[in-house]
Amino acid sequence: MPQIIDGKLISAQIKEEVKEKVAKLNAQGTRVCLAVIQVGTDPASSVYVGNKKKACAYVGIESLSYELPEQTSQEELLALIAELNGKAEVNGILVQLPLPGHIDEDAVIRAIDPKKDVDGFHPQSVGALCIGQPGFVSCTPAGIIELLKRSGIEIAGKECVVIGRSNIVGKPMAILLLRENGTVTVTHSRTRNLKEVTRRADILVVAVGKPRMITREYVKEGAVVIDVGIHRNENNRLCGDVDYEDVSPVCSAITPVPGGVGPMTIAMLMYNCVRSIELQ
Ligand code: NDP
Repeated sequence: MPQIIDGKLISAQIKEEVKEKVAKLNAQGTRVCLAVIQVGTDPASSVYVGNKKKACAYVGIESLSYELPEQTSQEELLALIAELNGKAEVNGILVQLPLPGHIDEDAVIRAIDPKKDVDGFHPQSVGALCIGQPGFVSCTPAGIIELLKRSGIEIAGKECVVIGRSNIVGKPMAILLLRENGTVTVTHSRTRNLKEVTRRADILVVAVGKPRMITREYVKEGAVVIDVGIHRNENNRLCGDVDYEDVSPVCSAITPVPGGVGPMTIAMLMYNCVRSIELQ
């Protein structure tokens, strides 16, 4: 039986640690405040935003909510971000993605003050991550590093393979694994002989965005498998990018879906909100 990496438990521990830090800051007269902006009423986005606000309330972070109509113009959104950038009492600004098609997401991300970029998507945050300087780290990959460390899984010297090279998961994941002294390979849709590459991995991080694509032929016996994917299967149950039933008997540790990587993202967002006080 593999070790089941318990994201629910580890994210709960992180939230407790954040809660303690927030209480200490409050006792010193410092409040922590996150502004959350949603444009439109996409149901999945509404669930994510709701969960973020709930987590804020739990750890004692104040949250300001901006629910803007679908037809909000880019200029209006940028004006709101500029206003929040200027407010000393707002520590973090989060714009829920995806945005409606008429808004340029990159322009919106660039408009956020890098000192308030709790999602870690601003080019300055990404650059700082690449050269090992202080800054915000994208929440999902940061959460995966915490999952590995707190499960006693050593990264240094290991062959790490990441499937996927998106700006929010694959690329920052690769850089973080490198920072932890892993030997890192990044794969993508143009990778030749994907199975051969992934079978080299001691630690395999899967962010391919394809339900249950990764079966045991992709996995070396005894590897650690981290499943970032999140989908609904034909029975409307949650599943990942990894075929859990097929892969779990051959690996040494694995994250389940749900209850693996998913809960870590919000816990790390809470962590980043507190970190914003330090960075400011
Ligand atoms: P993207 O769709 O942006 O990226 C997918 C990546 O996988 C791309 O780099 C793509 O390559 C690569 N890819 C696609 N098909 C193949 C293939 N057949 N072989 C090899 N590589 C392939 O997805 P994200 O990074 O945004 O997300 C990945 C998954 O993680 C999704 O399921 C998403 O829902 C989930 N997710 C979960 C989060 C959580 O909190 N748990 C947070 C964020 C995402 P190329 O670049 O060449 O197109």
